[in-house]
Amino acid sequence: MNKRNLNFANKILIALILGIVFGIIGNVIFPKSFNEILSKWILTPVGNVFLRAIKMLVAPLVLTSLIVGTANIKDVKKLGRVGIKIFIYYILTTTLAITLSLIFANIIKPGIGINIPTPKEFKQTETPFVMDIFVNMIPTNPFEALTKGEMLQIIVFSILFGISLSLLGEKGKPLFNILNCTNEVLLKIINIIMQFAPYGVFALISNVIIFQGLDVLLPLLKYTLTIILVLIIQLIFIYGLLLKVIGKINPVNFYKKFWPVMVVAFSTSSSNATIPVNLETCEKKLGIPESIASFTIPLGATINMDGTAIMQGVAAIFIAQIYGINLSISQQLMIILTATLSSIGTAGVPGVGVIMLTMVLQSVGLPVEGIGIILGVDRIIDMARTVVNVTGDAVGTLIVSNSEKELNLNTYNSISI
Ligand code: ASP
Repeated sequence: MNKRNLNFANKILIALILGIVFGIIGNVIFPKSFNEILSKWILTPVGNVFLRAIKMLVAPLVLTSLIVGTANIKDVKKLGRVGIKIFIYYILTTTLAITLSLIFANIIKPGIGINIPTPKEFKQTETPFVMDIFVNMIPTNPFEALTKGEMLQIIVFSILFGISLSLLGEKGKPLFNILNCTNEVLLKIINIIMQFAPYGVFALISNVIIFQGLDVLLPLLKYTLTIILVLIIQLIFIYGLLLKVIGKINPVNFYKKFWPVMVVAFSTSSSNATIPVNLETCEKKLGIPESIASFTIPLGATINMDGTAIMQGVAAIFIAQIYGINLSISQQLMIILTATLSSIGTAGVPGVGVIMLTMVLQSVGLPVEGIGIILGVDRIIDMARTVVNVTGDAVGTLIVSNSEKELNLNTYNSISI
């Protein structure tokens, strides 16, 4: 086992634990005014430096790695096959996740027997029309897509660019070499930035926990725990089973190598910001070829949100129970459909799941104001569900790679992390 990497993995775990402990101590012991100064002068700047540094790489890395990955595919049919397989996987696992969450919420009944005043108003947000999601995947200006970080648009442009580059044959070689080298440089930058990750993780996590009092959490404890329970089931059992039974690979290796990515997802609450380290782990440690990971990971960060779907399922049942509304089976099926659709085309950024919840609630006539009740705890739940969101992307990518006989099993099974 590589000593430097082991140290890094340990450091990030220690940062996670220390961040939680320090946050709790700060919340319980330190005066609020001190916490505010601490946050303003140390925690927020340190956390933001890390966050901005990893976000800096998202657009250029997706662009170069997807162009290089696509240009390397000799057989364009393979790209289509991978696309169809991963799309089916993403949709099916999201549907499974939300179904699980509905089952558990119906059994646990998190909204029954608690007394919370129901808010009368909630600022509604526009929900996108489903066909627009597909139309908007085509950028009118690829540079604008890059500057705004429009992931689906960047993906479409990069794939077209990559295919065309490979069609140019020998003539395209110089540009391919430049992009390939740029891609390697960007991966090196991730290595450098990740040295700073333990400090960033500590600052980001403690900064959230220090301001999240138990008073916000307690009335919604049953709601929060129901979501956490289903998230854990999805993370360990469902993904473990999928890797073993469908992927035909040892799930333990995956978790051993992937958990630093989970910590980054947890501390940043953003699938998008996690793309660079997710890609690097998939390619360098899990043995997935760039031609597959560079496509499926950024795509998954946008369209595959199993953790978010789980939150939405529990939230819908919880809000219905708080308002004393009974949901029929057909209404619950509607929730499955809208939650699955709403995760497509939504960027993987903090807090977006709760905005998309508007669409889910509206589809079955539940009061949108109910969102006001759960907002207080959503920051913490966002951290947890983002872990499931990014893990789902990597699990799907592994399964598809192995089904294409493209997974490097020697790298996957190697013990170095
Ligand atoms: N923060 C989540 C993500 O980036 C999305 C959400 O559920 O709010 O994956």
